[in-house]
Amino acid sequence: MMIVMKPTATAQEVDAVVDRVHGVGARAHVINGEELVVIGAIGDAEHVARLDLEGTPGVDHMVPISKPYKLASSQITHGRRSVLEIAGAKVGGDQFAMIAGPCTVESRAQTLDTARIVAGAGATMFRGGAYKPRTSPYAFQGLGQEGLRLLAEAKAQTGLPIVTEVMDARDLEAVLEVADVIQIGARNMQNYTLLSEVGRSGAAALIKRGLSSTLEELLMAAEYILKEGNESVMLCERGIRTFETAYRFTLDLMAIPVLKELTHLPVIVDPSHAAGRRDLVAPMSLAAAAAGADGIIVEVHPNPDEAICDAAQQLVAAEFPDYLDRVRAAAAVAGKTLADQPAECLLT
Ligand code: PEP
Ligand code: MN
Repeated sequence: MMIVMKPTATAQEVDAVVDRVHGVGARAHVINGEELVVIGAIGDAEHVARLDLEGTPGVDHMVPISKPYKLASSQITHGRRSVLEIAGAKVGGDQFAMIAGPCTVESRAQTLDTARIVAGAGATMFRGGAYKPRTSPYAFQGLGQEGLRLLAEAKAQTGLPIVTEVMDARDLEAVLEVADVIQIGARNMQNYTLLSEVGRSGAAALIKRGLSSTLEELLMAAEYILKEGNESVMLCERGIRTFETAYRFTLDLMAIPVLKELTHLPVIVDPSHAAGRRDLVAPMSLAAAAAGADGIIVEVHPNPDEAICDAAQQLVAAEFPDYLDRVRAAAAVAGKTLADQPAECLLT
């Protein structure tokens, strides 16, 4: 239930409503808008139904949140879009985030070379996996702790915030020492204990859409993080399974406008994992940016043909500046500007 306060409501009146919400065993989520305060009463439907605020001072009206996801719903912010601030980089609103880096951290030279090139070209954040979700248990699983150390070095050298995946809650503490954004991989999108743990950590999260997940399931995954009081969540469309076999996954570009209708959270697109082929990455990036995505997460490698994983899809680092210029122009079509790098970005 959404409780819309009158523009004249006082802080005491807001507090009194929050107490009433707690009194029926629900959680109160206070959103301070520019003109008025909205209080989301979140909890068991039976508990929320006991709330009778008719005639309560300061309350204007109440609107039920019809969706199963409450805090992720665009209803709760009255259509206002969330803009996340991550280590000095903005994601959402009219800002377009370019998150670039290798599939996996392989070596010091590969990591630092890529970081310098993408930072120099104007990327907003650096990505790279230290813990990799691989289909085969015999495939390279990531450098783990050593990978995290190299990511920390990339951050120290470039100032770019780090996006990296956590697959197991037992690694969360170590990953949090370097990560500015925790990536929840497509295969873990419905790992609810991991989502709750990341929610409790308070760190920003990027949730990949599951291989066969609906948008509603993706939003329910986000809800697990939001319900812990962590509001720094972005969603990522990365291609879904369809009957088509000509490419790796089907990039669901319609998810961009539809998610924007359903949720206030930023929507990022990963063209690399959807395509599985380098030549498809640029056209899909341009389409995603022009369709209004809030950013792109893309794989880049100094010498992709020698990459340990996802060799066929990673962009050639030397070609990244040109790619970014084209994506920037496509984002402008949707009214977005490439987000500024954090002020302390050492390469600008
Ligand atoms: C990745 O981004 O490194 C990755 C493994 O992506 P996904 O979880 O979308 O497959
Ligand atoms: Mn990859």
